[in-house]
Amino acid sequence: MERSSNKIVSPSLSGDLLTAEIVVAVGRGVKDREGFALMVRFAEAIHAQLAATRGAVDEGWLPRERELGLSGKRVAPKLYIGCGVAGANFHTVGMSRAGTVIAVNTDPLARIFQLADLGIVDDVRTCVAHILRVLPADGSGASAVRLTELFAAYPGAEKMTRKSSY
Ligand SMILES: Cc1cc2nc3c(=O)[nH]c(=O)nc-3n(C[C@H](O)[C@H](O)[C@H](O)COP(=O)(O)OP(=O)(O)OC[C@H]3O[C@@H](n4cnc5c(N)ncnc54)[C@H](O)[C@@H]3O)c2cc1C
Repeated sequence: MERSSNKIVSPSLSGDLLTAEIVVAVGRGVKDREGFALMVRFAEAIHAQLAATRGAVDEGWLPRERELGLSGKRVAPKLYIGCGVAGANFHTVGMSRAGTVIAVNTDPLARIFQLADLGIVDDVRTCVAHILRVLPADGSGASAVRLTELFAAYPGAEKMTRKSSY
């Protein structure tokens, strides 16, 4: 990640969101710029593209063009990882065509879990920092299948059945 005139310049923000195989969606639950910077590092490490909720755009972490949802883009990646995303239906219409959905949220009742295949109730910063530590150094962790396995091995990760289609 580089900074240029106070803007983050990252491959995870310059690729094509619409054709990305892996999308890391950042919500207000990442808390602050430090939490956001961790998500950028994570997305870079797994060659993902970053997307945003309206909440994350309003915080100024990501540009409006990265917003998913009714008023944003609609994506269909192999893997969507929702990081501190509440799962408002305004947002989820933008990610409902994802192959596998992983959600990390401190609130067990967050709506995003209704659309998830794998749910983790935890601080997303703790969880993502852990995944970064266990990612294989040879880059083999940067696939949808391998990442799903790594998240599934996280303490407390729960396989889920989608209860909502968007
Ligand atoms: C007309 C209209 C159109 C809209 N269109 C869109 C749209 O296209 N796209 C869109 O995204 N939104 C849209 N919105 C806004 C939408 O309704 C939601 O307000 C927005 O998606 C919420 O963003 P969020 O999930 O980041 O934030 P929040 O609702 O603030 O949720 C943050 C989540 O983070 C969790 N959390 C907190 N701390 C942590 C932590 N440490 N670790 C993990 N989780 C944590 C919380 O439990 C919560 O679930 C629209 C709204 C309106 C009125």
